[in-house]
Amino acid sequence: MTMPATASGNQGLQFEQPLIFEQDTRGATAVDLPALPHTRERLGTLKNTQAIGLPGLSEPEVVRHYTRLSQKNYSIDSGFYPLGSCTMKHNPRLNEKMARLPGFADIHPFQPVSTIQGALELIDTTAHWLKQLTGMPAVAMSPAAGAHGELCGLMCIKAAHVAHNQGTRTVVLVPESAHGTNPATAALCGYSVEAIPANSEGRVDLAALQAALDKHSADVAAVMITNPNTCGLFERECIQAAEMIHAAGAYFYMDGANFNAIVGRLRIGDLGVDAMHINLHKTFSTPHGGGGPGAGPTVLSAALASYAPVPFVVHGKDGFSVEEHAGLGGAQDSFGRMKGYHGQFGVFVRALSYMMAMGADGLKQASGDAVLNANYLLARLSAEMTPAFAGPCMHECVFDDRFLKGTGVTTLDIAKALIDEGVHPPTMYFPLVVHGALLMEPTETESKATLDQFVESMLHLARKAKAGGAEAEFRAAPQFSPRRRLDETKAARKPVLRWMPPTAGASSQAAE
Ligand SMILES: *Cc1c(COP(=O)(O)O)cnc(C)c1O
Repeated sequence: MTMPATASGNQGLQFEQPLIFEQDTRGATAVDLPALPHTRERLGTLKNTQAIGLPGLSEPEVVRHYTRLSQKNYSIDSGFYPLGSCTMKHNPRLNEKMARLPGFADIHPFQPVSTIQGALELIDTTAHWLKQLTGMPAVAMSPAAGAHGELCGLMCIKAAHVAHNQGTRTVVLVPESAHGTNPATAALCGYSVEAIPANSEGRVDLAALQAALDKHSADVAAVMITNPNTCGLFERECIQAAEMIHAAGAYFYMDGANFNAIVGRLRIGDLGVDAMHINLHKTFSTPHGGGGPGAGPTVLSAALASYAPVPFVVHGKDGFSVEEHAGLGGAQDSFGRMKGYHGQFGVFVRALSYMMAMGADGLKQASGDAVLNANYLLARLSAEMTPAFAGPCMHECVFDDRFLKGTGVTTLDIAKALIDEGVHPPTMYFPLVVHGALLMEPTETESKATLDQFVESMLHLARKAKAGGAEAEFRAAPQFSPRRRLDETKAARKPVLRWMPPTAGASSQAAE
């Protein structure tokens, strides 16, 4: 179907608006300030005498511009968002209300600790819940995201090896199916990364792990394993893996981004884990995406606890205080500081609100419902699509592209066609170990009606692809979005981040 062209470029009430700089009306202004009373000029030669190039717009023009831009955002508040590995779930409004309480929102990290006892208690209570839920003795609260928590864990591991005269260990082992942040973190921490292959079930191959440990023997600093892993599967042999890792003198890092599948059902401390980050913004709700905010508290075993970064909250007999400096007080072995101030405080408020509103029983039910929803998708979609691994799955399910074989339609085409169906595409082509992967995580907050609607769309697209003759139609999707297929490679490699005034004869960069 081709849309008739409109004179304005708008389509219905979907606006095609120019950039704010292109709406510039010289002299218009959205603020009306009184003339400056006579003041003494103190800028001297630093005074700017030229126009600073801000666009001139009236207040209603500014309001419309930004409101329309905000409406172009697809969000969890507007529709189903089945991204795998991201945990895009409903964020209760209660959390937002709590985070905006003046006693939490209007305080400053430089305030005397006697005036922020409640805030410090909140950090301490959140830490307590995280230790309870993981069965781990310590937690570093300051990391600002999952990847930052990985860095925190590996820096503790490095400090521990150095303290035991094992600083020569240079290798970190990471399964093939790992999230890209795992090898990136290890590399940033100065380690070389070796991949451990998966077995045919999509789990870490213990024989391959042992072979890698033997091969690199005294060089292995740590092994990073995600559990549940990015294939949506529970790593059942973690205890054996932990024994093998410890026997080799290395530490066991667990990527806990998928903790939402096991909360309240399993204490990872019982698996022999030495460090694990928890993505508060995934498991315990906080609106995220587009770069933040998040928080990646990292739980630590007794072997690593003393190397934790500063600052941390201490609960003494005179109330709460903050240990700020490495090498002092209770922080003699701390590797130092990795973030300004105390961590992502607003995310702590949301996480604790979520945990307290849910209660221990509610958290356990949420992980059960998340797993149930994913298995519902796996079971129903298997009617037309090809699951990459035998079920049951954990909180996410993954399909490969065998069901598209010979159709001329690709995973990318299916994802683009889903946009026309009103669904944000799932994660595509990840995990890398699955050919043409579609990775879906419905989360516990979606209703059966939403899941059924999604299933109907997916089955419809799969049937249409398999019936043949729809290649061109798929290739043209999405048809109903304001932009169709973008040059994603060019956008990533040559982003145009700054508007430049058009020069005579040349078109403006932003118009590209
Ligand atoms: C999301 C995720 C990460 C990274 O977390 P960020 O908070 O985005 O830095 C790491 N590992 C896995 C498995 C993830 O899903």
